Amino acid sequence: MAKKESQSPKPDNVSQLPTRCVAEGCSKKSSRLSFCPEHFQWFKEGLINKEGSRPSDFDKKYQAFQSRHKSAA
Ligand SMILES: [Zn+2]
Repeated sequence: MAKKESQSPKPDNVSQLPTRCVAEGCSKKSSRLSFCPEHFQWFKEGLINKEGSRPSDFDKKYQAFQSRHKSAA
């Protein structure tokens, strides 16, 4: 609530848009923001930040994520 968004929060070096998912160890094509569909989901779930980096408690979050999204692979 207290946070104000500046008009252009993007850095200036956006001319080179990544075409691949920025998540660590992923080389899939990005489709949303800079993520592949799978990692976009991760981002939405808070598993990774927008740079694709994992938080220190990633393992815990990932396990919670998996238990929420159990699916037959
Ligand atoms: Zn990915």
